[in-house]
Amino acid sequence: MNAPTIAYLTDIYFEPGALNVLPDLLHRFSVKRPLVVTDKGLTSLGFSARLGIGSVPVFDEIETNPTETSVVAGLATYREDICDGLVAIGGGSSIDCAKCIGLLVHHPEPLAHYAFLNGGLPRITANKPPLIAIPTTAGTGSEVGRAALITMNSGRKMAFLSPKLIPNSVICDPTLTLELPKGLTAGTGMDAIAHCVETFCSPKFNPVADAIALDGLHRAYVNIREAVHNGSHLGVRTEMMMAALEGGLTFQKGLGFVHSLSHPLGGLKGKRLHHGTLNAIFLPHVLRFNMEACLDRLDKLARALGAATRMQLPDVFANLNTEIGIPSRLRDLNLSMDELEGMAELALQDHCSLTNPRKITLDACQRLYQDAF
Ligand SMILES: [Zn+2]
Repeated sequence: MNAPTIAYLTDIYFEPGALNVLPDLLHRFSVKRPLVVTDKGLTSLGFSARLGIGSVPVFDEIETNPTETSVVAGLATYREDICDGLVAIGGGSSIDCAKCIGLLVHHPEPLAHYAFLNGGLPRITANKPPLIAIPTTAGTGSEVGRAALITMNSGRKMAFLSPKLIPNSVICDPTLTLELPKGLTAGTGMDAIAHCVETFCSPKFNPVADAIALDGLHRAYVNIREAVHNGSHLGVRTEMMMAALEGGLTFQKGLGFVHSLSHPLGGLKGKRLHHGTLNAIFLPHVLRFNMEACLDRLDKLARALGAATRMQLPDVFANLNTEIGIPSRLRDLNLSMDELEGMAELALQDHCSLTNPRKITLDACQRLYQDAF
């Protein structure tokens, strides 16, 4: 059966201080012993303690671009500590990893069996423990997204897609983003912008998601500079968190080549390239490539951002990258041309390529990588 045209969604608690609903939420889901899934950086900043749920098991072996190894290790901790639910606090990596830990609690391994490209979507059922997601970045939208991206032991980054993976409840508390460093604020914020732009340009019919994408894009574009340069401003952080959430609410339309190009690079071993930063670099190039296939859409985006014409949009985003300290080229990320070998083939197979507004050849895809290099 096809996915529904429009699907909304999960409970979202959104306000400064919203974190204090967590104990009641756990009670509502009858979770007595949750596993907290997070990263070591947040543990050292005391975020697990701030949850206000006493002493509970914590799994914090999460890295940027989470791996199959982390999922399996997290599952072992969940079982050893006899947990009955999951609380993911962190960026998209922690939330994606928690989605897959929860998946494997009642779905037999291996994890790859459920990957989208392996025909895994119908194998993912609702038989999973409750998951409450608490984002501490404003960007990924994973808290309301149906996807989890995991770097497999093979080295390939694979997508796990199902509405059943959407967390049962979401707590968006902008005060948790006040200490987010400049670089991560910029990178994750540009990820949110890429989500709004790509879903708006997706050819799928979903005017509700389009309206959300336009609103999210405008909020992020107006506030991202201030969020980067004056991170302690709660009002600006609140706007960015809403923009990121809206980006995530539009995922159901599907993304495009910005994400297709960035996913394989995110799987490069030993590089730990930041997803949002990669997207920011690719965005101007993909907009130039897609221009002829979505003229009306780009006209609307230009109007939303106060640009005179759609032709200016690539430069609008390139200039924004410069203003918030994002490098303009892949080579600035310590990548070599050799490491781009084989990326175009993987990008063409990526699930996000299905909803890009313009079809692409392997040659053109390779050119996009070269242009961005
Ligand atoms: Zn993204």
